Amino acid sequence: MAQDRPEDYAPIYAAFTAPISRFDCGKHCAPLNGGEPVCCSTKHAVPIVTVAEWRHLRARTDLWHIYRPRDAVGRQIKEELATDLRAVECRGAARCERENRSISCRTFPFFPYVTNDRRFLGLSYYWTFEDRCWVLSHLGVVDREFVDQCVRAFEACNEIGSEDLDLYREHSAAMRRVFSRWKRLIPVIARNGGMLAVDPKTGASRPAGAGEFPRHGPWAEEPASCAS
Ligand code: SF4
Ligand code: SF4
Repeated sequence: MAQDRPEDYAPIYAAFTAPISRFDCGKHCAPLNGGEPVCCSTKHAVPIVTVAEWRHLRARTDLWHIYRPRDAVGRQIKEELATDLRAVECRGAARCERENRSISCRTFPFFPYVTNDRRFLGLSYYWTFEDRCWVLSHLGVVDREFVDQCVRAFEACNEIGSEDLDLYREHSAAMRRVFSRWKRLIPVIARNGGMLAVDPKTGASRPAGAGEFPRHGPWAEEPASCAS
């Protein structure tokens, strides 16, 4: 059960304002998604917040409402939610209020990559979005300031009890199983902003270049000169 309080979120929001990149990445994914950035559409990603974050958001803005599912997948998301979590939806990208984005908006598409021996190595990503999220084919565009702030936000959320780095350790292990089947190295943006390649079979990591990792979906055939 989450231990966080609504007032815990003001300092975390205030310290996590950096954009993911100097590029407006939404311009790259939105044209392929009816004009809306993929991560701002509940057709693709439903933001999940704790009850405490929900209370914090409601006190700041009317941007958000409780998510109303429109199909079986959406209904399943709601049904499977823990009692201390809420699925929420905003009024859409055209009405986004940057200062009132949820933690899940700010961190998307990343999660903390945690090793078996509990080291928070850096940021890896929700791999099911590789075919839709432009950033995941261009990891080199992710700004150092964003990485710093994102890492600190995950640590702060772990401290207040809204995130659990141990759960991300399990998620990282799941990623290793998937990438092992795919025979692919796992990209991790290290805490110092550099790239790491993780061998999914052994869990060992080594320094890497963003260009080592394949591009996906509509960006798979891009020439190497594009932003990477
Ligand atoms: S983070 Fe990914 S999905 Fe979200 S706007 Fe940027 S490219 Fe699109
Ligand atoms: S609050 Fe902004 S960033 Fe978050 S889902 Fe809505 S439009 Fe996207």
